[in-house]
Amino acid sequence: MITRLSQLFVRTLREDPADAEVASHRWLVRAGYIRRTAPGIYTWLPLGLRVLKLVEEIVREEMDAMGAQEVRFPALLPREPYEATHRWTEYGQNLFRLKDRKGGDYLLGPTHEEMFTLLVKDLYSSYKDLPLSIYQIQTKYRDEARPRAGLLRGREFVMKDSYSFDVDDAGLDASYEAHRQAYIRIFDRLGLDYVIVKAMSGAMGGSASEEFLAISASGEDTFVRSPGGYAANVEAVSIAAPATVDAGDLPAARAVDTPGTGTIVELVAAANAAFPRADRPWTAADTLKNVVFKLVHPDGRSELLIVGVPGDRDIDAKRLEAAVSPAEAAPVADDDFAANPALVKGYIGPVSVVDGAAVQHLGAEGPLKVRYLTDPRVVPGTAWITGANVIDTHLVDVVAGRDFTADGVLDVAEIRDGDPAPDGSGPLSLARGIEMGHIFQLGRKYAEALGLKVLDQNGKLVTVTMGSYGVGVSRAVAAVAEATCDDHGLAWPRALAPFDVQVLATGKGEEIAAAAEQLALDLDAAGLRVLLDDRKASPGVKFADAEIMGMPTSVVVGRGLVDGLVEVRDRASGDRVEVPLAEAVGHLVALVTA
Ligand code: ATP
Ligand code: MG
Repeated sequence: MITRLSQLFVRTLREDPADAEVASHRWLVRAGYIRRTAPGIYTWLPLGLRVLKLVEEIVREEMDAMGAQEVRFPALLPREPYEATHRWTEYGQNLFRLKDRKGGDYLLGPTHEEMFTLLVKDLYSSYKDLPLSIYQIQTKYRDEARPRAGLLRGREFVMKDSYSFDVDDAGLDASYEAHRQAYIRIFDRLGLDYVIVKAMSGAMGGSASEEFLAISASGEDTFVRSPGGYAANVEAVSIAAPATVDAGDLPAARAVDTPGTGTIVELVAAANAAFPRADRPWTAADTLKNVVFKLVHPDGRSELLIVGVPGDRDIDAKRLEAAVSPAEAAPVADDDFAANPALVKGYIGPVSVVDGAAVQHLGAEGPLKVRYLTDPRVVPGTAWITGANVIDTHLVDVVAGRDFTADGVLDVAEIRDGDPAPDGSGPLSLARGIEMGHIFQLGRKYAEALGLKVLDQNGKLVTVTMGSYGVGVSRAVAAVAEATCDDHGLAWPRALAPFDVQVLATGKGEEIAAAAEQLALDLDAAGLRVLLDDRKASPGVKFADAEIMGMPTSVVVGRGLVDGLVEVRDRASGDRVEVPLAEAVGHLVALVTA
């Protein structure tokens, strides 16, 4: 059956939607693939739905091929399982919670570890039943703080999530590897340019965890790579801490007047003017910058957290977010400083000098009892210029381990181009990506919390070990659009195009319309998926819409028809060739099935 554009439920738009920040969002809306229903919530129109189903089918085929079985859970879920794993609370504001008419608590599933675990517990009880991998392609709900870029970060989105169940660690490794290979095939078939990077295991405490990132400047994730093959999301980079140094005979920490030096730049300038070093100038890396955050826990509790980092580095917001999750680190306001007079804004430091002696000011040891964590570079023996906790005053030669002890290490400073890879494999380079998939060895956390055990070979009850694996299915529609679109519209790869060929009847006259119609029918009979632009519209409108809608190939039946010719256009390259009408079907079938 051919689809006629005159009948298709679609309107292309001449104007960009006001909220579109990225090209894929702009074109998916303008080409009539999706419509916004609410922030981060989209309606799929016929063209968009065709692409979504193609992505789903690729994912489904590869999951089935690796031996996983498809199931489908509801999106509306009871509270209890999520209470048992603490995620009812830990998910914080990202969880859509609701009540039924009897006052019972429900949620819209953000991910389904709990439900899969309970389902397997419900049905299976022996090691003989395992290994098992089950999956679903289903709608997820997350009340994202920043829904963004159309389908890329929605509050309702389609995910493929699968879960593996094994009796032992070797089984989990095998299930993880099978998923990894399936994901490689999926993202290859989607035609994405992607990298596999080490990911953050986070609070779930699992071991192996990797993300598949589509390389894209529009991505929200930053990853690093080294020439020696190291690849990680910046969130997951643990820098190699330098060796402890011998502070030797460094003088005691002493206070220096540094008026008007509330910033690192001002401080370095003042230091070089007032107390220059003999061997080299002071730099920002000699200073210890102490940044105050308010840590807000999922249950609403909050506490101050101070992070000490070398002054030449900023704190990376995403690394911080990942490191403190499920708590959130909020910046502190002026009234927080007002409420804590011992925190002198611009002059905070781990140590104060009292009666000529250095005493610890921050951390569990200090009088404030405020949590103080330092960058891994702040190893024992390193000396710093840092705030004296007195306005317009800094301390020089504050030595870590000698003058103060932090409560722990927090590795959240920015990673920069050229920084050494933690495994010694060369300098890192940074790029951005869109997280398309995540594979993750969960281990026994969920099985333990929900009591999923099976009898092993010796008749002993053992806790099952699990993996959790996600693919952003609706996100993939946007990511592929983002990677392939140009200044004129969408440009689908063949595997994801809603139609193989768009046939355009351009020019007046019954003959052209009839020839276009016949060609469309012949292409359809040859097995191609055909969209026929049979509208009473000008050639200019039809050409522009074909470019916006982005079918990989279009055929123009128009002026050339008098000579028995049609024009075949390649959307991605812009190449055009004239082909005899009589050979058009063979030519197009060869293109599409190449
Ligand atoms: P992100 O860091 O982008 O928020 P995540 O770590 O929360 O992703 P997972 O919980 O691992 O993601 O979900 C599995 C997959 O689902 C992700 O790899 C991504 O492709 C997709 N996904 C996650 N959140 C969204 C969203 N808000 N909109 C669309 N797709 C999403
Ligand atoms: Mg997320």
